[in-house]
Amino acid sequence: MVTRAEPAGAGPDRVSAARAVAAAVPDPELPMLTVADLGILRDVAAEDGRLVVTITPTYSGCPAMREIAHDLRRRLGEAGFAEVTVRTALAPPWSSDWITAEGRRKLRAAGIAPPHAAPPSAGPVPLTLTLSRGPVACPRCGSRDTTQTAAFGATACKALYRCETCREPFEYVKAI
Ligand SMILES: [Zn+2]
Repeated sequence: MVTRAEPAGAGPDRVSAARAVAAAVPDPELPMLTVADLGILRDVAAEDGRLVVTITPTYSGCPAMREIAHDLRRRLGEAGFAEVTVRTALAPPWSSDWITAEGRRKLRAAGIAPPHAAPPSAGPVPLTLTLSRGPVACPRCGSRDTTQTAAFGATACKALYRCETCREPFEYVKAI
């Protein structure tokens, strides 16, 4: 189902429609997550007839941000938003604690261990104080008897682990 937004004006309905489109853009490195799941979509607002989307970069040096900005402009363009500016907000710095509960659920469903609570210096006070800091639990069987096999996975934001209980390798999204 494709709903085409009204071409004129930039009222509150337009902005919320744009926000819904922007929120659904997937992350290139963790494609099971949207930018909203990752917590990097900071703001969608109308400014002088233009749409301004503000995003915060994830892992430093993550080349995905350029791709996300391109995808945001393309999808919003298809939804009828011709004038789109993608802004990058560096402060406060993104932390893996910003990944939503829904995002964590999606990671586990994809066989990827979600990040533990970030180190205190990494950003604002964690919203989710219940995040564990112990061993990385296997996303398949839940065992905490796991071993890191490589500090970097397919992308720098992930590490490789192996579960000693079910013997399956899995990826862990690093806490920052
Ligand atoms: Zn396991």
